[in-house]
Amino acid sequence: MDVYIQKCQNCNSRNLRNILARDDAQRVYVQCRDCEHFVARYVLATGGYFHEGRDYESFLRTMMLDSGFSSGRDLKTVFKEVTESSEIGFVDAIEHAKKKYGDELP
Ligand SMILES: [Zn+2]
Repeated sequence: MDVYIQKCQNCNSRNLRNILARDDAQRVYVQCRDCEHFVARYVLATGGYFHEGRDYESFLRTMMLDSGFSSGRDLKTVFKEVTESSEIGFVDAIEHAKKKYGDELP
């Protein structure tokens, strides 16, 4: 796993804001809180959004809005898998970031 902690390319600040936007796709726009510069944009894969602490009902609403999602699999199973893989991926990313940046992450 390769990790990178994002910073503003304009002022090097790591004080960033994520703006989640949903229309034909789900996108995340990253803006610097210090200089308001546009930093990055991510387009989420279908069913790719996970928000820790959300319940199953909330997950279902997101999946319904996510128009490209058409799997016939049991959504409760998908919810469980997404929850587990997101939490494992987060712990893994933090570990790799600490190896790269040290225990005090920037
Ligand atoms: Zn900035």
